[in-house]
Amino acid sequence: MPGRRRWALWVLLVALLAGLLSTLVWLAGRYESSQVQSRLEQDAVQTAADIRAALTRNIQRFQVLPAHSASPDAWRLSVSELLREHREIMRLEWRDAALGTVASADTPYRTSVFARLGRKNAQADVSLACAAARRFSGPAYSTSFFLPQSDGLGLEMLDMCLPVPAAGRPAGYLVVTYSLQDILSELVGKQMGRGRSLAFTEVDGTRLAMYGNPAHGSRAYVVQQLLDLPGNTLVLRLESRRGTPALFPNLLTALVTAMSMALVAVLALLGRDMRRRLKVEHDLADALAFRKAMEDSLVTGMRARDLQGRVTYVNPAFCQMVGFEAKELLHHGMPPPYWPPEQVEEYGQRQANRLAVGATLPREGFESVFMRRDGSRFPVLIIDAPLINALGKQTGWMSAILDVSEQRRIEELSRASQDRLQATARLATVGEMASLLSHELNQPLAAISSYATGALNLLQSAAADAQQPDNSEDMQRAMRRIAEQAERAGKVIKSVHDFVRRRDQVREPIAPRRLLDAVMPLVSLQARKLAVRVLIQVDASCGPVLCDRTMVEQVLLNLARNGMQAMQGPDKSRRAEKVLTLRVRPAASNAHSRWVEFAVIDQGEGISEQVAQQLFMPFFTTKAEGMGLGLSLCRTVIEQHGGLLGFEAVLPHGTIFTFTLPVAATAAEPE
Ligand code: ADP
Repeated sequence: MPGRRRWALWVLLVALLAGLLSTLVWLAGRYESSQVQSRLEQDAVQTAADIRAALTRNIQRFQVLPAHSASPDAWRLSVSELLREHREIMRLEWRDAALGTVASADTPYRTSVFARLGRKNAQADVSLACAAARRFSGPAYSTSFFLPQSDGLGLEMLDMCLPVPAAGRPAGYLVVTYSLQDILSELVGKQMGRGRSLAFTEVDGTRLAMYGNPAHGSRAYVVQQLLDLPGNTLVLRLESRRGTPALFPNLLTALVTAMSMALVAVLALLGRDMRRRLKVEHDLADALAFRKAMEDSLVTGMRARDLQGRVTYVNPAFCQMVGFEAKELLHHGMPPPYWPPEQVEEYGQRQANRLAVGATLPREGFESVFMRRDGSRFPVLIIDAPLINALGKQTGWMSAILDVSEQRRIEELSRASQDRLQATARLATVGEMASLLSHELNQPLAAISSYATGALNLLQSAAADAQQPDNSEDMQRAMRRIAEQAERAGKVIKSVHDFVRRRDQVREPIAPRRLLDAVMPLVSLQARKLAVRVLIQVDASCGPVLCDRTMVEQVLLNLARNGMQAMQGPDKSRRAEKVLTLRVRPAASNAHSRWVEFAVIDQGEGISEQVAQQLFMPFFTTKAEGMGLGLSLCRTVIEQHGGLLGFEAVLPHGTIFTFTLPVAATAAEPE
């Protein structure tokens, strides 16, 4: 798992870095300590050399002391100055060849060191030293010895024996007793720095004499140096507290530590940055996954193309739509496999145009035809948008593609059913008309029959009585009446025939007046039955309208019929006269309007709020014999012409239904 491995790597990195840094700090500290140590060692060597040199200088002083020829008093006098100058010398003895004391002198700074224990105790050391001195023919030192003092403390002493020759053979010895303590303080102590202590120790570390403050604790530097003296070897121990390794012994360590801390800080910052990066990466992956899921679940086909028109991306919906696989579509080159071969040229041209247009594309898209893998064609709606990259530069086109074949099929179906519905409505109207027709035809037929009877009577009476004056004039009149009535009946029948006959749906320019004339015979049929007077007002400035006249005539007829029926309410006694007005005028106030407004105004009971809400719903009717299709069809027809159908109340009572039709451009109306 990459996450866990990344963690392990991080832990390893941090551990390595921590190890490296602590090693570095430790090494720097050690380097610092070793520096101090070696300095101390040099100092120790120097100190030992200093002591030895001082002791040698002392011996030179002893050798110039007056020889044994002098009297003990004279000798004592001559050494008294020496003792005053050299505080480290406790006692000087002049001994003869058999080591018997001839004369002695004590340091003036103390009471005699041998006062408490006597000189005899150290006799063995003295004789050993002098034996060695005799062997060396030079100075020799005894081993050190402890002398308790009267003040309760004690001093570590060292004897030195110097043979004093007389006439070539040893005639006696000069025995010098040194205090180790004072050797340290007098010979080298002065130049020793603070924080150090100097001591003589035995080989096992037991301290014999010391100068300076002893260093405590484990952090002291200690150096031991052997001080070789003839006959004796002393251990010199130098301790230093100065430069005791603190947390940061020096600049180097501090620097290394500071750099390490900076490194750790940088590492922490890097870690934080990495964490942020990871989070962003994670979010990005989420967003990508979301986008992918979205694209895959889309039913809209998506297609991206580069600026040359080559497909660079397709989603599963698009692949499914055209039946090709994504890899077949990508980088296929031109033309893409879903272009119908017969359209390739046209589509190529269209694409070239689009590229030339740049980023200003219609948002509503355009329709086209694509080909499936099996060769079948299907209509699509394509909405193109420029593909802009993060730098704001256009890199291609993104298209959403909708398969609209189903939509087209439904539209086709609904158009067919609409047509059927209209035909049905027309037949229904005709059915309604049939009763009116029979009523209307009754009159001319009755007239014809009565004229015919009259004519027959005339003929019979003429045959019976030949002397009768000529009645051919009456006959002619009767025949003319018969012809008139027959013509009238014929007109009635023709008007119905004209209406019912289904003509091609063609839009033609037609004068509004002619539309009214066409429906007038039928309107007046009903008007006469319902005792309604029909008024016609046509504005002379109205030009021809562009419409399917059959349809619009039916609309006019429907509205007129509705208006007349609305005036048949129970309160008809209220008005002496019922008037239906058919009015035509330009839609807007100016005469050059592009629209003509038709209005059908009645004085009926009006339309209640409740009825108004459902008025245009198919099959809504308030009449016992009504179909409720009239108004819904009227509106469809008018909207198909691009016009609007609406209604308003007329005061004090009545309703006005209006609709608009477009003016035919300049085409002259055919007669
Ligand atoms: P139908 O005439 O077959 O009832 P329509 O769609 O033509 O169907 O009319 C629907 C209803 O609208 C009518 O039943 C009537 O109630 C109401 N209506 C239509 N025109 C008018 C009008 N001019 N005045 C009052 N009511 C009307």
